[in-house]
Amino acid sequence: MNLKNYQEFTRTTAIYPKESAIVYCALGLMNEAGEVGGKIKKCIRDKNSDFNDVEFIANLSDEVGDVLWYATRLLDELGMNIEDVFERNQNKLQSRKERNVLSGSGDKR
Ligand SMILES: [Mg+2]
Repeated sequence: MNLKNYQEFTRTTAIYPKESAIVYCALGLMNEAGEVGGKIKKCIRDKNSDFNDVEFIANLSDEVGDVLWYATRLLDELGMNIEDVFERNQNKLQSRKERNVLSGSGDKR
């Protein structure tokens, strides 16, 4: 699988009103990110923080996958290319690494 193919695939599984697509995808992304947090919370509570638990890993993978789907749909609805976003993020972090500013704060450091 590559990112371009995945972005195209998400179009075939997108079911929401086109006129609300951007808001719908943004809300879905936030909801699924919350579900990731919920799985981790329940692992702490119910599995003694065993993050190697097979069931936990499977459930977390499902929720992170949902995050990726909504993030991809949001980008696609905005006419953006997921590969460009990954590349831009990689370049930003590489620059911070080279300038020794990975830690700290500020979006434009
Ligand atoms: Mg989910």
